[in-house]
Amino acid sequence: MGLFSSQIGARDMAIDLGTANTLVYVRGRGIVVSEPSVVAMDTNTGAVHAVGSEAKRMIGRTPASISAIRPLRHGVIADFEVTEQMLRYFIRRVHQSRFAHPRLVMCAPSGVTDVEKRAVIEASLSAGARRVHLIEEPIAAAIGAGLAIEEPVGNMVVDVGGGTTEVAVISLGGIVVAESVRTGGYELDEAIAGYIKREHGIAIGQQTAEDIKLSIGTAGPQEDEASAEVRGRDLVSGLPKSVMLTAEEVRGALEAPLVEIIDAVKETLERTPPELAADIAERGILLAGGGVLLQGFDERIREETGMPASLAESPLTCVAVGSGRSLEEFETIARAGADGASRTRAKRLAQRVRT
Ligand code: ADP
Ligand code: MG
Repeated sequence: MGLFSSQIGARDMAIDLGTANTLVYVRGRGIVVSEPSVVAMDTNTGAVHAVGSEAKRMIGRTPASISAIRPLRHGVIADFEVTEQMLRYFIRRVHQSRFAHPRLVMCAPSGVTDVEKRAVIEASLSAGARRVHLIEEPIAAAIGAGLAIEEPVGNMVVDVGGGTTEVAVISLGGIVVAESVRTGGYELDEAIAGYIKREHGIAIGQQTAEDIKLSIGTAGPQEDEASAEVRGRDLVSGLPKSVMLTAEEVRGALEAPLVEIIDAVKETLERTPPELAADIAERGILLAGGGVLLQGFDERIREETGMPASLAESPLTCVAVGSGRSLEEFETIARAGADGASRTRAKRLAQRVRT
């Protein structure tokens, strides 16, 4: 039986199930899926119309019989069945065969409850996984960025995702201090939409708000600041209307949610033991997750904390890469068996990767 199941599970995988994007890493192949976490479904029959970027394009544009759903909110599963369908779709896309039951490493935000973790495991199992290990997201991000997290040295990771910000201090392969807030990229989008509604009397959709953030959003003054024309619906006349927005206006709109993110970083630093804080002051803060790509974000973090801070080489993929790497390590150790050194390593890994 062992032989049979290990053949079926030849393509074990790691999944970064994010509020905004889901990435799938396959052992020996790297990242093979990177799609928005969106499913378009028929509201009457429950049939899946589209998943990923095709479904994301439908947000705000669906007829009554179809709805485009984001099954995760603030890093946790909000719609269990839709999450399961989405996972099933991504797993199938990698495996093609209906009979493949891979072993999975799934990331879970460090701030979630046991019940929420359980939901991730259950959804993965019913989507076809044979076995599921969980890895904490900040640890995965640190591994993916190449930090030497096993050492007795403090590293700080700030991961700004779609609906959460996770801040963690890691030493000896484990999380020492962590803070998680339910503010991420979407809260920034909502702040832009709210501002345009209040100040200009125009309603815009979620996608338009995100586009504005990506094109002229900033976390602090920049040298060349652009303006952008925004189209929406006039709240009084009900007709299409456009307005010019400056980068400064958008910055003002972003300030409140941005401060929540920055405060989470500051509070975590205040709670960090002095030795580790000294390490962070020397090594700097690692910035991961799509939200840190906001122009001027790293600069703002440096200003506000007085610490060095820099973006991960690939902020959007480092969690998936790190989970994938932990999967490969786990395999090696499981196979290497029982010599002393690998047993110690296995024990440490087991602290990180839990079943
Ligand atoms: P999650 O892990 O929660 O799925 P991601 O790490 O994939 O989230 O990040 C998604 C968020 O990053 C979205 O809110 C998106 O708008 C934001 N984002 C992506 N690129 C940029 C950018 N260049 N500037 C600002 N925000 C960005
Ligand atoms: Mg993430």
